[in-house]
Amino acid sequence: MDRRKFLATSGLAMLAATSPVSFSALGAPTRKVAKSGRLNLSFAPYELKLRHAFNLARYSRTTTPDVQVQLEYDGIIGYGEASMPPYLGESVESVTKFLKSLDLTQFTDPFCIEDILTYVDGVAPDNRAAKASVDIALHDLLGKIMGQPWYKIWGYNPAKTPVTSFTIGIDTEDVVRQKVEEARPYKLIKVKMGLDKDQETINIIREMMPDVPICVDVNQGWDSKEHALEMCHWLAERNCLFVEQPFDKTWIDQTAWLRERSPLPIIADEAFQRLPDIVRFKGVYDGINIKLMKSTGLYEAHKMVTLARALDMKVMIGCMTETSCAVTAAANLSPVVDFADLDGNLLIANDRFDGMTVVNGKITLHDRPGLGIKPLF
Ligand code: MG
Repeated sequence: MDRRKFLATSGLAMLAATSPVSFSALGAPTRKVAKSGRLNLSFAPYELKLRHAFNLARYSRTTTPDVQVQLEYDGIIGYGEASMPPYLGESVESVTKFLKSLDLTQFTDPFCIEDILTYVDGVAPDNRAAKASVDIALHDLLGKIMGQPWYKIWGYNPAKTPVTSFTIGIDTEDVVRQKVEEARPYKLIKVKMGLDKDQETINIIREMMPDVPICVDVNQGWDSKEHALEMCHWLAERNCLFVEQPFDKTWIDQTAWLRERSPLPIIADEAFQRLPDIVRFKGVYDGINIKLMKSTGLYEAHKMVTLARALDMKVMIGCMTETSCAVTAAANLSPVVDFADLDGNLLIANDRFDGMTVVNGKITLHDRPGLGIKPLF
């Protein structure tokens, strides 16, 4: 897609007429803007088209609303994005409203990350994906100014990236078989559960791929402790590594009961969003699934990794359906996590970026400054 077509299909032209920010650089190569010594934010909606309908225990969809963000400083551009799966409560309208309310031109030093992101966080409560879009763009910008990728700035060894899982949703037998074929290059399969086809889906995968480890994500779909415990034992016998969010996020006592008895680690996802939420999980969950759209971006996600480690909890890094922009941002943290579920970019048909790649199932980080991404159009 060329840039003019992107502008038309993204709704950029419409927003440019009403937004107080400049869109002139969106989608363009870097270093064309005159030096202003200020942070300039621009953004545009961009609907993500899913390759397959995404069926979870509680809903189904074929697109994901998304807002693409640019942060420019002295001609250098950092890219970010907000992805808004409906269950998180944000929308193109709410993200656009939040971003319009920001005045980042007050900051003349982009390296004051703490000041900038504390300001962004304080403008309004919630709005986590909107805040993440600014955080991700700021990290891309700063890495580019420093000329280094973020995994290097944090001191992480890129050889230690984990394998990433490939997700198979809840679906008909034919679609499950087709998705298992697509999943063949991967070394870990993530299976969505929580409806009445749980065992059937696992049996199909085991018939087609007898040895590949699997992990399951119940997305709060199980409603009985006893059934959950039975399933954990059944799954453990079938080379399953862990179970994610078995119960409703409010079922704290029931989750602790299951964790005490389960042969598999229990990982929290929907049950938490921000850093302070993690402290109360000691003894309830064995680990946490960090996602940038929940954590408000990399700055807090990096702190979450440290806190979870200090609490002796397992760490997983996940994503929403996102372009390679946010997925690659998260991949920079992957050398220090136990599990990675970073296939959100592979589930969409209209990725805007070239970023981290998956080679033999393993996350592979590029030696490019910033997040390590290049816009495709
Ligand atoms: Mg999950």
